[in-house]
Amino acid sequence: MLIGVPAETMAGETRVAVTPETAKKLVGQGHSVAVQKGAGLSASVTDAAYEAAGATLTDAADALGAEVVLKVRPPSDAEAMSLQPGSVLVGMLNPFDAAGLQRLAAAGVTAFALEAAPRTTRAQSMDVLSSQANIAGYKAVMIAADQYQRFFPMLMTAAGTVKAARVVVLGVGVAGLQAIATAKRLGAVIEASDVRPSVKEQVESLGGKFIEVSYDTDEEKEAAVGVGGYARPMPASWLARQQIEVAKRVAQADIVISTALIPGRAAPTLVTEDMVKSMKPGSVIVDIAAGRGPGGVGGNCPLSEADRTVVKHGVTIVGETNLAARVAADASSLYARNVLDFLKLILPKDGGLKIDLEDDIVAACRVAHDGQLTPK
Ligand code: NAD
Repeated sequence: MLIGVPAETMAGETRVAVTPETAKKLVGQGHSVAVQKGAGLSASVTDAAYEAAGATLTDAADALGAEVVLKVRPPSDAEAMSLQPGSVLVGMLNPFDAAGLQRLAAAGVTAFALEAAPRTTRAQSMDVLSSQANIAGYKAVMIAADQYQRFFPMLMTAAGTVKAARVVVLGVGVAGLQAIATAKRLGAVIEASDVRPSVKEQVESLGGKFIEVSYDTDEEKEAAVGVGGYARPMPASWLARQQIEVAKRVAQADIVISTALIPGRAAPTLVTEDMVKSMKPGSVIVDIAAGRGPGGVGGNCPLSEADRTVVKHGVTIVGETNLAARVAADASSLYARNVLDFLKLILPKDGGLKIDLEDDIVAACRVAHDGQLTPK
């Protein structure tokens, strides 16, 4: 098959869907790989490295016009027009963006949104949400440490003792766990909150303290179990109790890393303006959910602004929406391996394209085919 790798065009996107490592494997499997010139540069991959891996260099139109097109982000309107009807598109295509999916259906492509893969053991090696959230959690702490005007670790020096930073992590999924691990390595004291009580053990195993909130009704207990590993919106009664506990910790925190998300819904508000006012001057909030709050405004903190760093009530609030793109080389390496593993399902060794809808991963990821959206 002819596999095309266009350069990403979305503002701020630095990643690339195929690396020399995965290009070499695809070529080894008998495919031709055509990479748009310069596609890897912002992820520190040169054109020469792709050529050495057996890929050819091409322009955007040829990369988009291939039989199988591999991307990081959904195609723009212009890019969608260059896709060939009947071709296959694989990427993080945002399965909750109805208008974007409609555009893919209209282009006549068979589109696979990798974010829609089930969170099962078999799908782990192609789990783009995990591979990229892991990076986002790490980078969020790195950015917080950079913005913070004090040390993270406790230091005893001849000039006196410096206290360890207090870090509060809200939302303990993949990003939150990596944020805890990273902050711990830097020597911070960590507390964390999640709606799912099952994460308590994980927080503690990383050296953090879980913020306990009781589950008082059957409705609260049921909602906390979530669905498919994901959180569900919690009843207002539980959220009110959580807010009291979180507010106490946030008032004492130096750093808040918020990562709380509910798939397909607005991010919950966890750090209110009053909580921000209660924080010490110079404290830092990194809101990974920025831009995903109610109506697309704010994130877990209503004061955060998408892709901006602002200072409100003396607190620095970082609202970067694409943290993984700030670690472009490793984010691309991991993403490209996820893509390669997914391709094994639709491009078996012994021939061309084979779309087996009995395969739960293939069926879950397919969002458009033959001019139609795939009903979910
Ligand atoms: P996510 O990005 O959808 O959400 C981040 C976290 O926010 C979640 O832990 C969620 O419970 C939490 N959250 C939502 N509302 C909240 C609130 N009001 N207050 C506090 N926290 C709140 O989650 P994710 O990182 O994609 O992980 C989702 C689940 O998938 C997790 O259970 C994770 O362990 C699981 N997972 C499974 C596999 C696998 O088995 N293959 C792989 C990766 C992740």
